[in-house]
Amino acid sequence: MRASEVYFPDSLPALLDLVRRMPDAVIYSGGTEILRGQSEPYARLPPEVISICGLSELRQVALTERFVEIGACVTIAEILELRENAVPELFALALRGIGTPALRSLATIGGNLASTSRFMDAWPALACLDALVELRDASGSRWVNVNRLAGSDGAPDFPAGNILVRLRLPLDRWDLVVLRKVGTRDYPSKDTAVFALATKAEKGILSEFRLAFAGQIALRLREIESKFIGRRLPLESKQRSAFAEEYHEAAADLSPRLRLQFGTLVDGVLDLLSR
Ligand SMILES: Cc1cc2nc3c(=O)[nH]c(=O)nc-3n(C[C@H](O)[C@H](O)[C@H](O)COP(=O)(O)OP(=O)(O)OC[C@H]3O[C@@H](n4cnc5c(N)ncnc54)[C@H](O)[C@@H]3O)c2cc1C
Repeated sequence: MRASEVYFPDSLPALLDLVRRMPDAVIYSGGTEILRGQSEPYARLPPEVISICGLSELRQVALTERFVEIGACVTIAEILELRENAVPELFALALRGIGTPALRSLATIGGNLASTSRFMDAWPALACLDALVELRDASGSRWVNVNRLAGSDGAPDFPAGNILVRLRLPLDRWDLVVLRKVGTRDYPSKDTAVFALATKAEKGILSEFRLAFAGQIALRLREIESKFIGRRLPLESKQRSAFAEEYHEAAADLSPRLRLQFGTLVDGVLDLLSR
């Protein structure tokens, strides 16, 4: 049996240098996704592994009046322990739905967003909140909207060779947030998906409407969302039916089961906005 080589860089520049020199090495954060399905006494690791969870640069949390920044290696459990006003409700609802307490104490937010086998549970809430992630590679650093981690075909598209350094979340006020996880709860199987919604209104007029749904593929339909802006609440029944029809049509590529669940959730939200 060939032993794995595990590297423990002691700084972000050292990590980026390793990534540049060993493009096939696997970045190991909490390891829950990398080791998923292994039940033997000894873990089987890929040939080259770069462990990042000891890097203090990736474990920082910074709170300002307008946003919170959370390092990629902060665990889901640690985020849920932050002050209530540092974690938007929609994001907290998504994190509480992830796995078990034991899993949440290992799993990191960076690993949740960088997994490419499917969308994990944090993405829809962060997409609705228009969160940003800082990505770094050997050529430098850039901030990218979380929505851009989904490709044009709706599949996960985390850029290869990049390190997710931190997440920046605006601390906006929302009037209505909804988060529902559908399908198998314990592990995101192909029939598991997360529905997230955030809306705001000023003097009875909708000023923000954001809706995301993701499992194997992601749905975030900004063209439909923009048609809600400026509508007076409660929505009229004609408007409500028109929006429902657009969302039902847009969900045509989902599996029959997810399409049904998505349709029911959209109808429920439109019902709330029509009262
Ligand atoms: C039993 C079980 C139940 C689970 N239930 C859920 C659930 O309910 N909801 C859910 O969302 N997930 C679930 N998961 C999946 C997983 O635990 C989470 O998505 C978790 O947040 C992954 O984080 P991690 O730190 O363990 O990632 P890791 O396993 O360390 O890494 C995951 C992937 O991301 C890459 N990566 C990690 N960090 C970075 C970084 N900073 N920059 C670039 N790439 C990076 C790794 O190379 C790897 O490809 C479950 C897993 C198991 C085993």
